[in-house]
Amino acid sequence: MRCPFCVNEITRVIDSRLAVDGDQVRRRRQCERCGERFTSYEVAELAMPSVVKSDNAREAFSEMKLRGGMLRALEKRPVATENIESSIIHIKKNIRNRATREIASSLLGDIVMDELRKLDAVAYIRFASVYLSFNDLNEFREIINRLEKDP
Ligand SMILES: [Zn+2]
Repeated sequence: MRCPFCVNEITRVIDSRLAVDGDQVRRRRQCERCGERFTSYEVAELAMPSVVKSDNAREAFSEMKLRGGMLRALEKRPVATENIESSIIHIKKNIRNRATREIASSLLGDIVMDELRKLDAVAYIRFASVYLSFNDLNEFREIINRLEKDP
């Protein structure tokens, strides 16, 4: 991010809070050279938090990966592309609204499962079976029960 006062290229974020405003994120920055402070506006993609995996490794949020996982679960299911796309938008909005810098992959998985459940029960179970990697039949049964209780 270039400094608007002296056009120096090196500026740093001085306020780590993310101020999410619609599709934009505001950040307070300071120039390393002239010391001027300014606010930068960044597009939504930059506002997506890193995903923290169970082994504590971090990776950038990937919409491609999200879509890929959902499409695999939805393969050959009668769900309109339009509905899948609005689900993806929904998921991204949900994550962004948390305004955190990191999100646990387990939480991300839960959010995706919630959305899939609204789209298609079979896709939901498919995704859950891969994602939760059921260790035994009881876990699988529990998911089915949950689905029957509260469709
Ligand atoms: Zn400057």
